[in-house]
This record gives sequence, structure tokens and C-alpha cells, in this order.
Amino acid sequence: MDPNEAARTLERELERGRELIAAAGTLEALDGAKIALLGRKAPIPAVQSSIGSLPGDARRELGRRTNVAFAELRSALEARRAELEEGAEDELLRADAVDVTLPGRRPRPGSLHPLTLVQERMVEIFTRMGYRVAEGPEIEDEWHNFEALNIPPDHPARTMKDSLYVDVPGLLLRTETSAVQIRTMESQDPPVYVVVPGRVYRREAVDATHLSVFHQLECLAVDEGLSLADLKGTLEAFAHEMFGPQIQARITPDYFPFVEPGAQMAVSCFICNGVGCRVCGNGWLEQGGAGMVHPTVLENCGYDAERYTGFAFGLGIERVAMVRYGVNDMRLLVEGDVRFLEQFEGVA
Ligand SMILES: [Zn+2]
Repeated sequence: MDPNEAARTLERELERGRELIAAAGTLEALDGAKIALLGRKAPIPAVQSSIGSLPGDARRELGRRTNVAFAELRSALEARRAELEEGAEDELLRADAVDVTLPGRRPRPGSLHPLTLVQERMVEIFTRMGYRVAEGPEIEDEWHNFEALNIPPDHPARTMKDSLYVDVPGLLLRTETSAVQIRTMESQDPPVYVVVPGRVYRREAVDATHLSVFHQLECLAVDEGLSLADLKGTLEAFAHEMFGPQIQARITPDYFPFVEPGAQMAVSCFICNGVGCRVCGNGWLEQGGAGMVHPTVLENCGYDAERYTGFAFGLGIERVAMVRYGVNDMRLLVEGDVRFLEQFEGVA
């Protein structure tokens, strides 16, 4: 390359470089300018590689001018890069800025589920009567769920048809909270006064009054001298607190393997006051099974059945919720429809 031609190229490239660098509005554009000016195919590097073939003086002079051109472009690129990076940061800060003058977005408060409300209220009533809360596992073994409760292997409740078994032999989803009666008595001496709220599982066809997963509150009292009168009195005290003083409690004979005698408990209908209406039919709303703890159950837990007696009952929490809130379909309690659940905001 002719030295004069090379010198002109350097001048032209410096001029072009200043313009390109100043015009680069983004870091990407600046990278493009750098390649156009200093990349392998750019004119200045071409000048640099032609220097070696020139005679001594011209080589030194052109070498100096090439270095000056390189230095100027590099420092201009660096300065512009710093400007653009700072700008990008400002941009980010602007995008992240909080406008403190905007009105706040008020979080929409949720409310407790009606089943939670009812369970808390039930537990509160019983703890005020001196009961404590006990809990147990939802996956239960057959001893606690059946045998210890005096439910023999040939009892229909034990078939696969009624119970939901898990893949481990001998384990199932508990069918009643009664299993916790056994766990409680196994772990402490009498007297016992416990309530057990919890979820239970049965293979049920789901309809307006049956679910396959539902909640019970089990009540167990074991002490010296307890009788059926204590059971009825306790149930009545609960019903008055839960539903109102006009409500009556009733127990009628029924059979459950773990109680003797066994009973079905009901409360008088809150709508018709026991006269009979569309909701209750005969004036009474069934609340669950009850009875005096079977002596065999006490003995299975190592209790002296000659000295101690006890009563137990299991209230269906969904049923209590239906009576308390006038809900006519149990499925509403598990469907999670916000329009239904919203009605319980602020309800106690
Ligand atoms: Zn009624």
C-alpha cells in the first residue's frame, strides 16, 4: 500500500469512527461499530498489516500514526460504552421506580371456611367443659381402627367395599376418629376427657348428605361412675351452646360394636322446633352415633372395666355446619365455590 494512501485511510477511518461511535445508541450498536472499525476486515488493521513492507522512515511514521488511530478509537469506544451502561442502569431504575402517589392495592382478606368455623366453635365448647384435644394419624392400622374397637374381622365395616385401604397391608384410611379413643387410652391412665376433631374416609356414594371424605368430632369420657345420663347431659349442653337454648337432644337405641348400650343422637330441628318440616322430616336431625364405651374396648386398652365406665360419641362436623348455617347440600362445603364461601366472611 502507498504510504500516502495509507495515511489518508487512517484519517478517513478516524473520522468515520468518531461518527459511528457517537451515533451508537445501544450497547449492541456499539459492538457493531467496534467490529466495523477494528475487526479483522476493517481498513485500519489492513493498513497495520501492510506497514511491514515499507522502507524504514515511512514504516516508523505510519506505525506511529496507526497506533495513535487505534488508541483514539479504543478510548472513544470505552467512553461511549460507559455512557451507554450508565444509561441502561438509569432505564432500569426508572422502570422499577415506585410511584408513591398511586393509591395502594388493598389485599382482599379471605375468611375461615365454614367447617373450620364450626370445628373451632365445637372444640371451644368442649374445652370449656374441661375436655382436651387429642389427635391421631389419618392412615391407621387395623388394630386401632377395628379390632381394639371391638369390630371383629368378619364385620361388614371391614370389607374393601366400605373402607379405603392403602397399598401397605394392614393399613387403611381411618373410617372414624374413634381410633384415637384407643390411642388416647393406650397412652394415659383414667380419667380421660378428650375431643378428637379430624378427617375420616369412607367409600360412600357422594350425595347431598354424604361425602367420602368428611369430618368428625369424637368425644370420649372415661371415669368412675359415668352413666348414660352423663352422655345425654353432655350432648344437651353442647347442643344448647351450639344451636341455642331451645334445642333439645335425644338419644335412641342403636347398635355400634364399640358401645354398649349404643345410641343414635339427634337434636330437635332448629327450623320447626321439633314439629316436623321439609328439612328434618320428623322433627329431629341426626348428629351421629353414641353410647357407653364397651367393656371390651376398655380392657383392650388395659383399663379396669369393673372400676371405670365411659361414654363416647362422634359428631359429624358437616352435619353440625348444615344445621348451624342452614346449608341444604353437604357438597357445597367442599366444592370451594367462592360465591358460597364469601357468605361466611365475618361469621362466627
Ligand atoms: Zn324441622
